[in-house]
Amino acid sequence: MTVDEVDSSSEWSREQDKAFKNALATHPEDDSDRWEKIAADVPGKTIEEIKQHYELLVEDINQIESGCVPLPSYNSSSEGSTSHASDEGAGKKGSGPGHYSGESNHGTKASRSDQERRKGIAWTEDEHSSLEPGTEQSMTGKDLEIEGYTVGGLSIGGHETCVIFPTLKVAFDIGRCPPRAVSQNFLLITHAHMDHIGGLPMYVATRGLYRMKPPTIIVPISVKEDVEKLFEIHRKMDQSELKHNLIGLDIGEEFYLRKDLKVKAFRTYHVIPSQGYILYSEKQKLKPEYVGLSGNEIKNLKSSGVEITYTLTEPEIAFTGDTMSDFIVDENNTDVLRARILVLECTFVNNSITVEHARDYGHTHLSEIISYAESLQNRAILLIHFSARYTVEEIQHAVSALPPSLSGRTFALTEGF
Ligand SMILES: [Zn+2]
Ligand SMILES: [Zn+2]
Repeated sequence: MTVDEVDSSSEWSREQDKAFKNALATHPEDDSDRWEKIAADVPGKTIEEIKQHYELLVEDINQIESGCVPLPSYNSSSEGSTSHASDEGAGKKGSGPGHYSGESNHGTKASRSDQERRKGIAWTEDEHSSLEPGTEQSMTGKDLEIEGYTVGGLSIGGHETCVIFPTLKVAFDIGRCPPRAVSQNFLLITHAHMDHIGGLPMYVATRGLYRMKPPTIIVPISVKEDVEKLFEIHRKMDQSELKHNLIGLDIGEEFYLRKDLKVKAFRTYHVIPSQGYILYSEKQKLKPEYVGLSGNEIKNLKSSGVEITYTLTEPEIAFTGDTMSDFIVDENNTDVLRARILVLECTFVNNSITVEHARDYGHTHLSEIISYAESLQNRAILLIHFSARYTVEEIQHAVSALPPSLSGRTFALTEGF
């Protein structure tokens, strides 16, 4: 499928599209005049049109090599308990990828609005002060808008998890590499179960194909060496470079994604080594004693060497990955419980599965989240990783029946169900 068949605009001819893709491969992402050069290679297109076309290429679902990344079909209840044995007990039984349908079932869902909804950096003062719990939390198309952040992606226990914060260019986990993951510069992986790491080589390869800059990938330090070996094997097999920066992060360690955004790993409790991540914003604030001074006075103080600002560090997003609820009572995890948004695995939602069963497989049951509600001080909680045994109605029913301590601030990621 070519881009112009998907794009409703007929302005791109097949030749232009071909020239565009060739130009993408010719002029690397770090080339300062990249867009000018690409535009020069594509007859009849402006730089703006080129950029737009590029956005659609890398972001719109179903537009990258749809034949190479089969999208799963999850809504068949006949997938039944045998396949779920792997999701609920992947660590014990060995998990294979889930079930593919032969073709994409998302072909008609591609939407321009994904781009239209894109916003700038999420944590401006304005946005935060204007957002009270329960305000801008609406479902728009495929994405959720929660506490000033756009959240996309999908998460189906045992099959595939990839949760994306496009304004931060961050994706958490990559079970299968959905096309949209490719445009995220940072990938944070919680553990090595296939439904969380299986799409990693494809993610790196696809970024290479489009000459995007090498991504930064964070993994638990315990699997770093094996991930390196994995890439070595893929390099050997397909003779490609697979450029990326791989960071092994231990629990409690931090890494700056950019000047005002850092990530810290925290302990989670799963059946194999695992960790969650907290994203912190860092802002320079004027010290209280200098608030109210004139611009000139502040300037003078500053030039005389006085430290007039301090750094305000706040936990914005915490992502657990797979874990038992025990992470909640871990005294080192207080920042997780006060992050603005907590993205929390919740594999089981009703009493068809017991808490004991959930714990046997290293997962969390909704009833445990309810009993810990008072500990969760988060403005919003996004539940993910539901077992594929559930229908979307069952999940929504369970979430709608939450007690007041959780209702109004709890969301469910049901994309793909
Ligand atoms: Zn999982
Ligand atoms: Zn797992």
